[in-house]
Amino acid sequence: MKSKKVIFIAGFGRSGTTIISHLLGQINEWFCAGEIGMLLERRIYDNGPCSCSAPIQSCPVWSQISSEYTHLTENDVERILQERNTFKNHHCWHQLTKRGRRKLNAKIVEMSRKYANLLSRLFEITGSRVIIDASKMPSHGYLLQSIEDIDLYIIHLIRDPRAVAFSWLKNKKVYDIIKGEPRYFPTLHPIQSAVIWQWWNTTINFMWGRQDRYVRVFYEDFIENPKKTLINIAEKVGEKVNLDFFIDDHMVNMEPVHAIAGNPTRFNSGPTKLKKDIRWLSEMSRYKKFLATIFSSPLLIRYGYLQRYAGRPNL
Ligand SMILES: [Zn+2]
Repeated sequence: MKSKKVIFIAGFGRSGTTIISHLLGQINEWFCAGEIGMLLERRIYDNGPCSCSAPIQSCPVWSQISSEYTHLTENDVERILQERNTFKNHHCWHQLTKRGRRKLNAKIVEMSRKYANLLSRLFEITGSRVIIDASKMPSHGYLLQSIEDIDLYIIHLIRDPRAVAFSWLKNKKVYDIIKGEPRYFPTLHPIQSAVIWQWWNTTINFMWGRQDRYVRVFYEDFIENPKKTLINIAEKVGEKVNLDFFIDDHMVNMEPVHAIAGNPTRFNSGPTKLKKDIRWLSEMSRYKKFLATIFSSPLLIRYGYLQRYAGRPNL
């Protein structure tokens, strides 16, 4: 039987998960599903756009799944959302004790079954060898690791917390709904984003950092040499890949993917330049950089970010 390989991209928001997952989705027989942990039912109910630009209920891939959810009412969707909200990232730490693990595993049975069915349907519909789930949240990764018939690999994507903080200061529009008023992602103060960055990355290290199927990717290295990063990931997953969608080292011919949720860049396709975004160095105030540095310092130092930008005039 063909193995079902799933790559879960873990990391704090604004770390580059959308671009790396879309690139992986360009590989032949690899399917980028986007952030399927972002409450699939809500996305289907709202009939928001897939990354291919079609509404989810009309997309050639997701329409085959959404037809299984048409009976859901607004109340059902709300109830599922509330249920999902009872399992948060901090609950992952309960696995430190035997009792905690038991309680946790009992809590996630139903949620885990749901994602197992979904992944199984996606493999069936797309005929893929590898599915990429860019859901980011450690709690979602915990659900995936409880599914027995998939081979799970973890990509831990890390970006400089000052760059992440700079991005969270921006008022970005949410393009995931068609109905109703336009919405915006919440903004975060640099202290908030630095603390959450530290917390999420610590949790991801704790959960998978010592496992064999774990790959740590620094966004800055990936954007410097994207081919090398993709080849490293493919080697870890045990797949031979052809990267002929690269026009040159930093230019890619992107085919549309069928991804749920993600950064607004998820709708981009065609020739795409992979550019280093270091605007935070010149556009972020020194005070905000200082706060983001201090409140993320233990991991920021451990990940080598102090040395990486040492000597920069704007730091
Ligand atoms: Zn689509």
